[in-house]
Amino acid sequence: MEQNLILNVAQLLKESVGATRSVHVIADLHRLTPELLEGVDEADQAVSTLSGPVRLLRTGGDILVQGRLYAEVILPCARCLAPVRAPLVVELEEVFTPTLDIITGQAIIPEEEDRALWIDEHHILDLTEVLRQDVLVALPMHPLCREDCRGLCPTCGANLNDGPCNCRPEPDPRWARLAALLDAED
Ligand SMILES: [Zn+2]
Ligand SMILES: [Zn+2]
Repeated sequence: MEQNLILNVAQLLKESVGATRSVHVIADLHRLTPELLEGVDEADQAVSTLSGPVRLLRTGGDILVQGRLYAEVILPCARCLAPVRAPLVVELEEVFTPTLDIITGQAIIPEEEDRALWIDEHHILDLTEVLRQDVLVALPMHPLCREDCRGLCPTCGANLNDGPCNCRPEPDPRWARLAALLDAED
């Protein structure tokens, strides 16, 4: 898959404030966040493209990057660990700062300390690290395979969606007698 997270913004930096670029960004989650795919079946790993429209806006001295990207991810159910397909929406909004003045060629020491937000001396703006962090933040905290997932038995680990396990107490015999009575009435 062709990723395009590394953007050359030299031309945009030469333009006046308010100039924009639109890019349809594509990221490969295998490469961006390999930890997401740990323990996921290979068949399910095919679902791994994060993509969406991103706008770059030339501001005073910086470039404002805004976008909304979508993916579908496979996560373990929070109760029974079965794989769950979950939609992922990543809101991207970051200000990237040049480290070289495009006109004078002078080095700039950015006030921004996070180097992931620096545009390098070749005028390359790299979305990789900010998107990686945004994906991890956007993950659903409590994915469920279904709303009423019964989860795993805390004692024997059986999947209770497949039926009760042997750890469960036998039904109260008084209820069994009542059930027999009701059956007899049918
Ligand atoms: Zn479940
Ligand atoms: Zn059990």
